[in-house]
Amino acid sequence: MIKKNTVLWFIALSMAILLTDSNLYAKEVNVYSSRKDHLIRPLFEAYEKETGVRIRYITGSEAMLFQKIKSEGKNTPADMLITVDAGNLWNAAKKGLLQPVQSQILNRNIPDHLRDDNNQWFGLSIRARTIVYRNDRVKPSELSTYENLGNPKWKGKLCLRTSKKVYNQSLVAMFIAQYGEEKTESLIKSWVSNLSISPLSSDNEVIEEIGAGNCEIGIINSYYYGRFMRKYEAHAFPLALFWPNQGENQSGVHVNISGAGITKYSKNKKEAIKLLEWLSSTKAQNLFADSNMEYPVNADVKPHEFVQKWGNFRQNVINVAKAGELQKSAVMLMDRVGYR
Ligand code: FE
Repeated sequence: MIKKNTVLWFIALSMAILLTDSNLYAKEVNVYSSRKDHLIRPLFEAYEKETGVRIRYITGSEAMLFQKIKSEGKNTPADMLITVDAGNLWNAAKKGLLQPVQSQILNRNIPDHLRDDNNQWFGLSIRARTIVYRNDRVKPSELSTYENLGNPKWKGKLCLRTSKKVYNQSLVAMFIAQYGEEKTESLIKSWVSNLSISPLSSDNEVIEEIGAGNCEIGIINSYYYGRFMRKYEAHAFPLALFWPNQGENQSGVHVNISGAGITKYSKNKKEAIKLLEWLSSTKAQNLFADSNMEYPVNADVKPHEFVQKWGNFRQNVINVAKAGELQKSAVMLMDRVGYR
């Protein structure tokens, strides 16, 4: 008799434990991220600790992740997609990988121009695409605007990244949004005629070539400058950042974003939205922006001390969605003017 009771109790207890255990893991969010592991892990660990929600994630190139979400279709485990560049986020929405999210928290924390009008993706950090120069050969007083880089005085002194990568495609797309095709075409043409060497494959190479003395000015995302200066902190390196188009009637520094959206077939939509909202909060914004020396999107949050030293700038407030909408036009324009 005792034995039978014991067995029954044991079964009941096991079931109770099993149920509790599955409840423990009931709340989870699955993330596909083109941002690297070391940039997102600290955030996710902080979130798990704070909420008990488990975050599973994989990282990879956006091309691979887009393809994966697409081929997994309704069965995708992904709830959230994190990637860089509004051009990429716009493309993810266009391919039908994302779904709209209505959230007052996101609308409050993220400025209008850094999120999708249809609420399918949201900027989580700002990346400033700005001018870098050799400060032993160029005085900041000689610099002023993006347009000025096309002035013949810079002939043979400009280095640019290739037109084949999304960063400058997005930059040119934003110029088209602002100035129209014609004016942008003559602007980019003037840059091309000032190039000192063929377009380079990365922002890092632009910095290295300036360092090597092969050019004096270039355009990069400011965090590359940060990484470089940190790495060579001990050496006095003649490199400085410049914030263009800051005059009264000028439209400010071109910015892009890294950001995220909720996938169309998310199984944990509610939890995923909560995570997205948290990522835009004052609590998380420093973790998100500082890890790569970017700028928080949330205006209540200051950038990292190291980044603050580069000074304040006014940003261009054209909606970054233009980077996607006008990407094709930008690519064709760059091709027309011989920007390789
Ligand atoms: Fe980058």
